[in-house]
Amino acid sequence: LELLDRVDPRLADIVRAEEERQRTRLQLLAGESFTSPAVLAVLGSVLTDKYAEGYPGARYHAGCEIVDLAEQLAVERATALFGAEHANVQPYSGSSANLAAYAALLVPGDTVLAMGLPEGGHLTHGSRANFSGRWFDFVGYGVHPRTGLVDMDRVRELALAHRPKAIVCGAISYPRHIDYAAFREIADEVGAYLVVDAAHTLGLVAGGAAPDPVPYADVVTGTTHKLLRGPRGGLILCGAQLARRIDRAVFPFSQGGPHMNVVAAKAVAFAEAATPAFARYARQVVANARTLASGLAEQGLALRTGGTDTHLMVAGVTGLGLDGQQARARCAGAGIVVDKCAVPGDPRPPSAGSAIRLGTASVTCQGMGEAEAALIADLIGRALRGVRGVAAEVADLTARFPPRPGQA
Ligand code: PLP
Repeated sequence: LELLDRVDPRLADIVRAEEERQRTRLQLLAGESFTSPAVLAVLGSVLTDKYAEGYPGARYHAGCEIVDLAEQLAVERATALFGAEHANVQPYSGSSANLAAYAALLVPGDTVLAMGLPEGGHLTHGSRANFSGRWFDFVGYGVHPRTGLVDMDRVRELALAHRPKAIVCGAISYPRHIDYAAFREIADEVGAYLVVDAAHTLGLVAGGAAPDPVPYADVVTGTTHKLLRGPRGGLILCGAQLARRIDRAVFPFSQGGPHMNVVAAKAVAFAEAATPAFARYARQVVANARTLASGLAEQGLALRTGGTDTHLMVAGVTGLGLDGQQARARCAGAGIVVDKCAVPGDPRPPSAGSAIRLGTASVTCQGMGEAEAALIADLIGRALRGVRGVAAEVADLTARFPPRPGQA
């Protein structure tokens, strides 16, 4: 930051303020974690200068022989890590990965079956405000009203009734494992492609802490940030027979030149995700999530599906006389960063929601374990009830577990 201090002190102050925000608050957003210093270093490297439209060995630009090596490494490592035949590491984001996956498999007007947005589907799963809902005919499936689990009987009924060209599974706020084999069976029955949007779980899959979608899906999309701890970006995995269609759907169909610093940082993240330390991290993320969820239940919050199998949970707050927006504000006042969230069939508008959504990746990156997860549940419970003094305890906890030791 010394250089930035001299060149652009206002921006240096902004970066410093964000560093401090990350260090001094409890970061509990379900889709965030802390990237490693190696990933950050590659992101800030000279690779950002290079134009490289195309793919290794077949670029439109000159001088790509060195960045080709970085992309080849990223592809090799992604395919090895996830056991996939082909990987495209160029998508700018998870949304871009989904756009390319749909472009490879569908034409505008095709019918697609995906989890409904109120149940936890992502904007790219058919929101009218998004390209997906504008260009394709999305039909939404949901969860069983009693168990809160994906209603596979209903998925099958809808698939038989609507004959979709693709079925999408994966969500932003569903806390349980998804039965990929059951989705595959239904997709085969109606002749649909199965697209797994594993943005939230790719990191757990890499660490062996969540079921692997690759053997079941025609295409797996995901993000390299979130639990994977890589740079902000997207990833597509598929079999060899779809490789060319996927590649052409990314470039030239939906993207221009790849961000080679990000592609290289993905390579670093894939290498880190293949280590035993990452597998320990992934298991700890889930153990921490289970402890946090049961602690929140003890505090009177209503856990969607009663708990979690993954890194995330959705905790209803109306029993405490709050909506999701108010709960988020109370947590923020105590230095605890959580998202508000709707629950299936939520009577409140999405701007308020009846719940908060939390994840344990960031605190696990910081080295926190189940003892701290139990303490966090207690801190949240007290913050939501408006008990004073929680912020000081949060400050004490975050000071003991810096996100990037030595860098603060
Ligand atoms: N798909 C799912 C399931 C997600 O949770 C997200 C991000 O929250 C995305 C896609 C989109 O990722 P991005 O924000 O990188 O576009």
